[in-house]
Parts: sequence; C-alpha cells; structure tokens
Amino acid sequence: MRVPLLDLTEQYRALAEPIQAAIDAVLRSQRFILGPQVKAFEKAIRAYCDSPHAIGVSSGTDALLAILMALGIGRDDAVITTPYTFFATAGCIARTGAKPVLVDIDPETYNISPSAIQEYIEKNCRSGSNDELKTRGGKNVRAIIPVHLFGLCCEMDAIHQISEHYQLDVIEDAAQAIGAEYPLGERTAKAGAMGEVGFFSFYPSKNLGAAGDAGMIICRDAGLAKELRILRDQGMEPRYHHHVIGGNFRLDEIQAAILAVKLPYLERWSAARRDAADFYRAEFSRAGLVKKVVLPAEPYRNRGLTNHHIYHQYVIRTPRRDALREHLTKREIETAIYYPIGLHEQKAFSYLGYKKGDFPETERATRETLALPIYPEITREAQRYVVNAIVEFFG
Ligand SMILES: *Cc1c(COP(=O)(O)O)cnc(C)c1O
Repeated sequence: MRVPLLDLTEQYRALAEPIQAAIDAVLRSQRFILGPQVKAFEKAIRAYCDSPHAIGVSSGTDALLAILMALGIGRDDAVITTPYTFFATAGCIARTGAKPVLVDIDPETYNISPSAIQEYIEKNCRSGSNDELKTRGGKNVRAIIPVHLFGLCCEMDAIHQISEHYQLDVIEDAAQAIGAEYPLGERTAKAGAMGEVGFFSFYPSKNLGAAGDAGMIICRDAGLAKELRILRDQGMEPRYHHHVIGGNFRLDEIQAAILAVKLPYLERWSAARRDAADFYRAEFSRAGLVKKVVLPAEPYRNRGLTNHHIYHQYVIRTPRRDALREHLTKREIETAIYYPIGLHEQKAFSYLGYKKGDFPETERATRETLALPIYPEITREAQRYVVNAIVEFFG
C-alpha cells in the first residue's frame, strides 16, 4: 500500500464542477485584478474569522511583508520570532531591514515559548529614553511574530501579557492554522484574529489551498487596513498617485473565486483531520507505542473549543527519527521533516551571529520530529498501515 503525505485529488474530484464554473465565470468577465471575487472572498473570511477587516494578498509571505511595512518596521528595529518555522517568517523581517531576534520553542507544542521571550527581554534588552524597548545593539524591539505551527495556536494569553507590558505589536503567523481556536481569556478566538493583525497562506498544501499562490491579512484597525490596501497595490490611491512605496501584493480574481468555493467546506475538513488525529492516537495506544513515540500535544482539548487543533501536520517525535523515516519510506509511506534546520543555522541568516547550541529545543526538534500522512480524506486503512509499519520498526 502506498500512503502519500497529502493527497488533494479526492477533494478536487468532489468540487471539480463548482470550481470549474467559478473559474469560467471569471474568464467570461475578463476581470482578473481586484474585482468582485476578491471582495466577496474577503467578506467571507471576515465572517469566518469574526474579524472587521480582511485584505486578500498574493501569498502568506507577501501578507507578512506588507504587515511589517504598514507598521513602519525597518532598519532601526528588531522583531522577535521562533527559529522553528518556515523561512518566510524571519525572511520578511530581514527584508524590511529589521533584525530577526530568535527565541527557543516549547518542546511539547513546538511553538514559541512565552517564557523564552520574557527571558530574552529581561536578559538582553533595556529601556530607551522614551521607555521604548532596546536591544543591546540599540535596535527598537517592535513586535513579536508567534507562529501557530502545525495548526496549534501559541499560548496567546501569555504572549499578550508580554506584548502589552512592553508595548509590542503582535503579528500572528496563522499560515498553517486557519480555523484553529484558542481559549483567549473568557472567549474562544480564532487563529489570526486574536490581536491587532494576523495572516493566512493559501499555498496549495495548506488546509485551505488555492490553485497556486494566495494569502490573506486580517486586522482590527480601520487605519491599518486602509494602509495595507494601499501597500498591496503599489502604494497607490487613487490611480497613479503613490503615497508610499508598496508592492504588487494583490490576490487575483481566479484564486479568490476558487477559494470562495472551498471555504464553506473548511470546517468539515478540519473535523476530518481531527478525527484522523484521534484515530492515530487510539491506534498508537492500542499498539502500546505511546512510550516509544511522542504524539502531538493537545493543550486546549476539553476547553470547550471545536478546533482545538486543526492538524495541518500530524507530527510525532522519536530520537530514532531518521531510521524510522527510512523504514517508512521502504513501506511506501511518505513522511516529511518540518523543519530539518533551525533558522539560526541557515546560511542566509549567518550574519545574525547565532551558532549551533543557541536553541537546544529547536535543535532537538529538528533531529527528532517526523510528519506522518494526514489529510481530510485519509482512510482508516491507510492510517492502520502507517501505525503497523511503525510497530514493526520498534519491534
Ligand atoms: C506557508 C507558510 C508561510 C508562507 O506562506 P506562502 O503563501 O507560501 O508565502 C509563512 N509562514 C508559515 C509558518 C508557513 O507555513
């Protein structure tokens, strides 16, 4: 039996007709840029996330770059994030000229550790003359980018406490977490919508995937939303009057039309992913494997949330990761490593001066974690086959 990490063909088969009709309608209209489809999809995302503003953009990466630009973050500034994430999170910080400041993760959730943020600030920062937070190198610490990795929200209560105390902006990287929920104070909040601003990626393999690249920013403040709309379109308002230097960060009509067809199914898909995760857990315990492999943490389960985790990835850990992966490959089970290298050890970031050993939990995660196949349509038979192959490996 061959088990792919992700198989989107079944999902497309079920929606082929409405998706083709949506594409056809855009083609007939010959309106491709910032038209009714983008407007309608932005409206649908506002409703889904309960967020007052949504701005469709060309990718998750461009979403983050535009947000940092709109907040005026640049070469005098520093932004705190995690070394255990996709490159773009810190890449965008660097592209504005600001300095990415990395802090280690929580080993249970793989998300940025709030206590590591606090410790970094206490040990390495001081107050400037206007009470602003300064790094040792004299940069202004402006923001924190928590990444809701694999579909599990960061500990946002603790992160908000820190951001409020030091007056930092919080930009949620919800690229992997659309629809994920978190018990924020007394209420249930959705990933991306927990603070001032957040963003999603609709890269085809994300939980809500386009037929190409696409992204979305959501935010609370009308002024910030207006600035983002201008930045998305070359800093232009009205036509050919350029206020600021923006970019071409536009979402196109065909992608918006496709995403609008798919969004109503997202809750069903998230539920199917959660069910698949529950089945993995049951099978792993039945096989007596829970002492051999560490299953994903579910810290917000039983907190009255529906999507306490949306399982963009189902990530297990074991010190024997590489050998296990080889064994699964032989059994035609596809797996992936997210991520094999921490950002602090990436060549592109060598100028930041970090070294091996700086983030021990991130480094341990890069050596020990393995993503198993998960997607809404995965069959129980395929999942049993995966678990049995892991049982076989551990003997
Ligand atoms: C996918 C992803 C991005 C970038 O999104 P693109 O749409 O591919 O540009 C950013 N951050 C994280 C955590 C991601 O997984």
